[in-house]
This record gives sequence, structure tokens and C-alpha cells, in this order.
Amino acid sequence: MSTFVAGNWKTHLLNDSAVALASDVAELCNGTDVAVFPPAVYAQSVRQALANSQVGLGLQDLSDLGPGATTGDICADQARDIGCQYVLVGHSERRIRQQESSDWVAAKAKAAVDAKLVPLVCVGETLQERESGRHVDAVMQQLLPALQVMQSGDRFMVAYEPVWAIGTGKTASAEDAQAMHAQIRLQLAERGLEQTLVLYGGSVKAANASELAEQPDIDGALVGGAALNGQEFAAIVAAFREKK
Ligand code: PEP
Repeated sequence: MSTFVAGNWKTHLLNDSAVALASDVAELCNGTDVAVFPPAVYAQSVRQALANSQVGLGLQDLSDLGPGATTGDICADQARDIGCQYVLVGHSERRIRQQESSDWVAAKAKAAVDAKLVPLVCVGETLQERESGRHVDAVMQQLLPALQVMQSGDRFMVAYEPVWAIGTGKTASAEDAQAMHAQIRLQLAERGLEQTLVLYGGSVKAANASELAEQPDIDGALVGGAALNGQEFAAIVAAFREKK
């Protein structure tokens, strides 16, 4: 089965350190099953650093609209033009800070697919939602609008990232993550979208990657903090490659 590991660099790094990290990733874990998501302003330099590798390039967000009057956005045509193949949509940091609704996220995912970019649709519950037992409903409310705009054959991935596990050092237990992934897989299968990979994100590191990778419905990882170190990121990639 195929797996995928994505590194989200957020607003960390400056040009030189981004290029150096991209070179490390290309050297340490080259493959089509890996992509990095640098700050958009460094996407071109990172693309050059990845030029002799198969490592994919992505943006951390995308406009739901085409070219036009949306100041500060990046549209799908521009993402493709600078050599991106992937894009994150609906990361919880944006759902919370920019108040992105699930319909808006779905529109971004559709804009990506229409431009032959592969969106990674991020979903995840808050701690309060988990503690009150509403975590599955919360995730499905985020996910279903995006699934409604997808058709069988569309290339996209889902990243399940519990908000309380992002950047906190707390990882969902492998069993809890697996249980949510199984629910997501069910929804995908009901819509003929079973080829879609479901990644886990939330404090993934070399030390916990193998246990997560052993779960039948965890197809890969979306990695934040640990993606900023080439060796650590490569160890996570290696853990998922063992699953194949
Ligand atoms: C993320 O930002 O998507 C993420 C999972 O971050 P971290 O790995 O640092 O928790």
C-alpha cells in the first residue's frame, strides 16, 4: 500500500535555512511519497533545492478563487506556475485564526483539484470536543463538505489532526487515531473515494512514528515541528516506508 509523509514548515525558517532543509530532505529521504510545505515566499528557492529529487512541493494554503481581487492570496494557477503539486487546506491554525468555515475549505479543495493540485484536507477536533465525546461528529462536520465536492478519481488526501495534539507534544494514542481514521475511511469508501490516503498529524516524531504507522488505516503523517530537522523527518518517512 502507498504511504505519504508531508512536512509543514509554517512560518519557520528564512531563505537560506529553508534551502538547506530542502537539500537535507532531498538527500535523506528522496521519493515521491514525501512533500514539503515551505513558507510560500520561499517556494521557488525550495523548488530549486529539490530540483534533482522526487520530493514534492506544496503550499500551506490556497485561495478558493481564481485570479482577481483577493489581496494577499495565492490562486491555484499561481501555485502550479511556481511548481507546486500539493496544497494544505483547512489547517486548524487557519480554521481558528482566519475563521475558515468547512464550506470555504471545501471550495479551496475544489479549486486545487480543478487545477490538478493535490489538496491535503485537514480536519481535527478540539480538546473540548473530544472530552465531551463529540469528536467524531466534529471531524465529520469538517470533512463532509470537502467530500461532497470530490469525485471518484480526484486526487486528494485527508489529514486528521486533533487540535490538542498540534505543537503540544501530546499525540493521540495510536488506538484513538486509528479509530478516527477508520471512521474517515468509511466515509471515503461510501463515496467511492477509497483510494484517498488518510494521514495523521499532531506531534508526530521519530519516536512515535512506527506505532502510528502500524495502524491499518494510518497511511502517513503530516508533520510540523519534527519536519524542521532533516534527520528526524527522514526517520518518520522511514517508519512509514516500512509499512509498504
Ligand atoms: C501541523 O502543524 O500540522 C502539525 C501536526 O504540527 P506538529 O507536528 O508540530 O504537532
